[in-house]
Amino acid sequence: MFEKVLIANRGEVALRIHRACREMGIRTVAVHSEADANAMHVRLADEAVCIGPARSADSYLNKPAIISAALITGADAIHPGFGFLSENADFAEMVENHGITFIGPTPQQMRLMGDKITARKAAIEAGLPVTPGSPALETVEDALAWAEKIGYPVIIKAKDGGGGKGMKIAYNAEELPEAYSMARAEAKASFPSDVVYMEKYLQNPRHIEMQILADKFGHVVHLGERDCSIQRNNQKVIEECPSPALNDAQRQEIGEIVRKAIEKIGYTNAGTLEFLYEDGRFYFMEMNTRLQVEHPITEAITGIDIVREQIRIASGAALGYTQEDITFSGHAIECRINAEDPETFAPCPGKIVEWHAPGGLGVRVDSEIYSGYSIPPFYDSMIAKLIISGKTRNACLMRLRRALEEFVIMGVQTTIPLHQEIIAQSNFIDGQYNIHWLEQFMAQLKK
Ligand code: ADP
Repeated sequence: MFEKVLIANRGEVALRIHRACREMGIRTVAVHSEADANAMHVRLADEAVCIGPARSADSYLNKPAIISAALITGADAIHPGFGFLSENADFAEMVENHGITFIGPTPQQMRLMGDKITARKAAIEAGLPVTPGSPALETVEDALAWAEKIGYPVIIKAKDGGGGKGMKIAYNAEELPEAYSMARAEAKASFPSDVVYMEKYLQNPRHIEMQILADKFGHVVHLGERDCSIQRNNQKVIEECPSPALNDAQRQEIGEIVRKAIEKIGYTNAGTLEFLYEDGRFYFMEMNTRLQVEHPITEAITGIDIVREQIRIASGAALGYTQEDITFSGHAIECRINAEDPETFAPCPGKIVEWHAPGGLGVRVDSEIYSGYSIPPFYDSMIAKLIISGKTRNACLMRLRRALEEFVIMGVQTTIPLHQEIIAQSNFIDGQYNIHWLEQFMAQLKK
């Protein structure tokens, strides 16, 4: 097992990784920007190294600085968390070339599954159901021909896309040329490549994703699904598991398909396969080759510490259990709490003057915040994850309502009032929602 792990991230996920390491008796190295000298991950880690100025490009994305920090402190592994360098295959390769273990899949697996076009191909070959779609589109004529074949509406996506950027919908042939050129331009501005492709645009799907774990000996398990349909701007706001839309038989069926596909692809470590789900059918969208923000809800209903498993797998340990050993019990819901204006969603950095996190049975708060902490304006606005679990979905909803009431964050605006509104809606209470529900609900509020 590793003796020292460097955590190449910040915020709540850096703490999350630190906690798993401590429980395993592993020492931790925090890295931080100049703006994060007082951050909680820096305070809690055994050692800390400043890797550059506030701007992410100069610090948390600064590959040589992070690798130097690992070499100087003698860390034997690096955990990338999510965001930043977590899906950067070049970084993973650099880490391995310096004799340090990258806690994640291999660079080859990251490249294969990180590119949406090659991932689609691999998914089809491995037997996963996918949305009807095209290969890389070279020209507008190419795009028009494929759209005819697939049938409108279609969505144009960047092959290297992420964070909901670079996607454009066309409902007919008149709209397609503009959608195509806008998607390409956005891809060019935000991603390494401006190559785009096309998928059938599903009109009212849910977003349902499957968590998997795979060791280096070919053992693969799935940890069930997460329903992440409550989204704004293609970004998740609330996640829950099990999905209100699936029954046990459906879960087992898609779980087995996913498990076999991952075995075939030969992927290792933790990963998430994202699907759209409409009219009882699954359509593979993409795979995230890293830890997900919403992983704690899966931990709540399986009792499996996913970060601990990532570290064990990377160190060469076998899973030590099979699919039959995994049980799902109860229900869990996560609310992402952002320091934002709950109406305009403008980020609200600033000083936290008072902080009281809810507690009690079935309440988990993952956050880097403490009273007196100043949220720097340079990074993501998510400041806490409230993860609630209970025996039933209903018990979970009652507990969530209580926990949101109890949460006190003073000094900055947060999205807590939005969460309170959402969970009071009968559609949400009944589990009747799809990926458009939140935006439709918010449009109604404005009227
Ligand atoms: P990113 O990598 O940028 O997050 P994804 O491929 O995961 O992009 O898609 C993000 C979101 O966009 C999905 O959760 C869904 O809401 C919407 N979306 C993507 N593809 C489709 C599609 N074919 N039909 C309908 N909605 C889609």
